[in-house]
Amino acid sequence: MTLIKSISGIRGTIGGGVGDNLTPIDTVKFTTAFAKLLAEYNPGKRLRVVVGRDARLSGEMVENLVVGTLLGCGVDVINVGLCTTPGVEVAVVAKGADGGIILTASHNPKQWNALKLLGSAGEFLSDAEGKRVLALAESNDLTYAPIDEIGVVEECSDFNDEHIDKVLALDLVDVEAVHKAGFKVVVDAVNSVGGVVIPRLLERMGVEVVKINCEPTGQFAHNPEPIPENLTEISEVVHAEGADLGVVVDPDVDRLALVQETGEMFGEEYTLVAVADYVLSHTPGSTVSNLSSSRALRDVTVARGGSYEAAAVGEVNVVTKMKATGAVIGGEGNGGVIYPASHYGRDALVGVALLLTHLAKSGKKMSELRAEYPEYYISKNKIELTPEIDVDKVLWEILNRYTDYNVTDIDGVKVDFEDGWVHLRKSNTEPIIRIYSEAHTLEDANKMAQGIINEIKDICNLW
Ligand code: MG
Repeated sequence: MTLIKSISGIRGTIGGGVGDNLTPIDTVKFTTAFAKLLAEYNPGKRLRVVVGRDARLSGEMVENLVVGTLLGCGVDVINVGLCTTPGVEVAVVAKGADGGIILTASHNPKQWNALKLLGSAGEFLSDAEGKRVLALAESNDLTYAPIDEIGVVEECSDFNDEHIDKVLALDLVDVEAVHKAGFKVVVDAVNSVGGVVIPRLLERMGVEVVKINCEPTGQFAHNPEPIPENLTEISEVVHAEGADLGVVVDPDVDRLALVQETGEMFGEEYTLVAVADYVLSHTPGSTVSNLSSSRALRDVTVARGGSYEAAAVGEVNVVTKMKATGAVIGGEGNGGVIYPASHYGRDALVGVALLLTHLAKSGKKMSELRAEYPEYYISKNKIELTPEIDVDKVLWEILNRYTDYNVTDIDGVKVDFEDGWVHLRKSNTEPIIRIYSEAHTLEDANKMAQGIINEIKDICNLW
């Protein structure tokens, strides 16, 4: 039973009591707050909001609540129905809407759902806007539009095709080259909306598609987070089918993981690396990812003559840094590709189309492509502290011990060494420090993390 309110939206479990879960009442309250925010930003304007959802089991229920509430607020709704997160983002701009709401709990299991909020640029709300929505939700101002002002719904169920059209029209996407290459690709979309959209995109590129878990029933066939332990099935199918690669997306299709023709993982960190390498080879420039993403992006960027910068964790932070630095490509190491020539949001369709073009033009196999990139391994650990420990003080102490190195403190503490890095972040909900480390071997990455864990234990014992 959980309800998490943050500046990017509200996320919670279905069922149970009001205030502790994403119940109908909580959904209505939060949707009302978002409508009031848009009204504050656009005084006197007749508002239009795009609503779309992934295929999870609670999707229809939450959609009906959200759409009904917006209408009650006097807001017109453009309902794109079953749609990806990037699809809704693109729809907000394409339809000239004032905002958007995506109904998805991303990679979280079936009992979860969430409302993710977009502004008129089709991008996540800023920190200030997000805080204002939370304040409005807290104020409990539940007043609605009079009868002559209630909203109307425009159904727009074919927007996924419009999104695909836009992806295929990108300058660096070469449909003809991909078609000629005659690829065979296995798709695992964990029975959400990607099961409809990704095969359609691939077929438009002349790719032979083998579908597993591509029925958008919301019955997730495995844990929906696209990480290796959840991807054993596609690994076997890619190998057995003699396919060129496997494509895995999460339920709302903003994360992309790839499987090599051998059935081995390409590595989620390397989705962005490979796509960026291709983009940089045609449009040199700078790149951005978050502090917990692989250094391989920096290496590939520098090798192409560009510069790399790291942002605090969180898509909105990456996007802000990308705009500030004029990055040609960026994203997150979890398989999130952000390509500004398309739009400022993680988009697995864009990732697939660029990656296949890269593969077709290079004439290489996935395993050969992977072998070209620097070898790094990330180790993910955490240390649990007792509640009386001041976690910020621990991080401050670590920071002071490593001032001889390149230390970043915009988001926890990150120390960059010559052959790797370690990034410490505190949890906002538990007395935990998460410790991510990266090195050229997993053994070294583990060793680096263990060293820091021991240091933290020492610091805590000293107090
Ligand atoms: Mg997602």
